Amino acid sequence: MSLNIAKFGGTSVANIDAMTSCARIVMDNAATRVVVVSAAAGVTNYLVQLANEELTVEQINQVIASIEQIEFAILTGLDSPPQVSVKLNELLNLLRELAFHEEILHRPDLKDAMLSLGERMSSLLFAELLCQKGLQAENFDARKVIKTDSDFGQAAPDIELVAAQANKLIKPELSRTVLVTQGFVGSDEQDNTTTLGRGGSDYTAALLAEALGADSCEIWTDVIGVYTTDPRITDKARPLPELSFEEAAEMATFGAKVLHPATMVPAVRRNIPVFVGSSREPEKGGTWIVKDCKQEPHFRALTRRRDQVLVTVKTPSMLYASGFLQQVFEILARHNLSVDLVTTSEIAVSLTIDNPPNSVRARLNRATIEDLKQISDVSVEEGYDLVTVVGNNMHSAAGVSSQIFESVRNYNLRLICYGANPHNISFLVSGKDSTDVVKELHRDLFEVS
Ligand code: ADP
Ligand code: ASP
Ligand code: MG
Repeated sequence: MSLNIAKFGGTSVANIDAMTSCARIVMDNAATRVVVVSAAAGVTNYLVQLANEELTVEQINQVIASIEQIEFAILTGLDSPPQVSVKLNELLNLLRELAFHEEILHRPDLKDAMLSLGERMSSLLFAELLCQKGLQAENFDARKVIKTDSDFGQAAPDIELVAAQANKLIKPELSRTVLVTQGFVGSDEQDNTTTLGRGGSDYTAALLAEALGADSCEIWTDVIGVYTTDPRITDKARPLPELSFEEAAEMATFGAKVLHPATMVPAVRRNIPVFVGSSREPEKGGTWIVKDCKQEPHFRALTRRRDQVLVTVKTPSMLYASGFLQQVFEILARHNLSVDLVTTSEIAVSLTIDNPPNSVRARLNRATIEDLKQISDVSVEEGYDLVTVVGNNMHSAAGVSSQIFESVRNYNLRLICYGANPHNISFLVSGKDSTDVVKELHRDLFEVS
């Protein structure tokens, strides 16, 4: 029998009506035996606020009340079954306890324990909804299976252990029941709760699809597929019926929020097709992301990643000093920072680092900069966005780059990455220009026939 993993994002489980559409999607496909849910929309943002901001007792209570309101509205929609009410209240009590402890102790493990609660509440409620619809379904604790390192806020899964645990604890259950589990959440070797980074529920679904050898993985969200660019940037964006693994991986890495950056990695390893569609409008179809596409156009999509930090490391002694780049990258590796764009000159290296607000862990921290300062002068500039054109054979076709650069000729491109990969051309632009840059590129590359 074939196996499908279905993941429902925050807006898809935001309230009882949205959840009801998701339940229908699960019940319409007998192959869907594992369901991964996000926290209800808004809840993780509140939890991040509790974890990261200095708050008064009154403010903490207010934030918790906002979360309660969202969860209780869903519980009421389910007619507040007593057992589920008890469990939900237990989770909310745990939240209260963690929030006050964390405010004093500032421990990353407490932050992750707190952040996991959004998914733990929504999975409890969604499993109950499926049961009320007549499906045999159970809530399953993802922490038993998604084993990770202890990099709280951005934990990395141990692929072999995840596979072993999934085969031991999930697989034998699937003939008996549908399992509803939490995205985004895992646990480390000591069984501390960890999280995979913002938007990580997509990644959980793909990891479980890989571990269980699923035949497909569905990402149900608030758009009817992956578009030529974020439909919030331009209403001219249009949904793509198909995408290749490589194209989707580039899009996810370079900011197409519809997929967490790591989502495609497990899918590619096991050649599992990934579907992206709208849980509110499943009849509208969606995007199939597959190994080989029928067409490989030069230009497939545009992405934007906001909040990029440009770090320039400069030393006169870099002149002829062959070990300098190595030293810079060693420091970045030690702090677990990945770099996207790099340019070098004789005395300087500039690189971009993703430093989104609202993530659990500030990536570029003072310690990294202090270490870099030990070997060079360091300047840090903020307020940039990274715009990427995703497509195929971009470095080997005449005219591709001139078409792109002609389109953005009126903007200052601060850094350009071209030719490292046939699937993308990226450039760094001022944050205030990026919407116009994407719109103009979209018009020139996708709207003219
Ligand atoms: P979920 O909560 O379901 O995980 P997300 O908000 O994480 O949903 O992702 C869906 C959003 O991704 C869309 O509402 C859209 O604004 C944004 N997005 C960015 N780029 C794209 C793209 N190329 N195609 C579709 N959606 C995109
Ligand atoms: N709830 C988490 C977040 O908002 C994970 C996810 O939704 O994918 O980042
Ligand atoms: Mg998401």
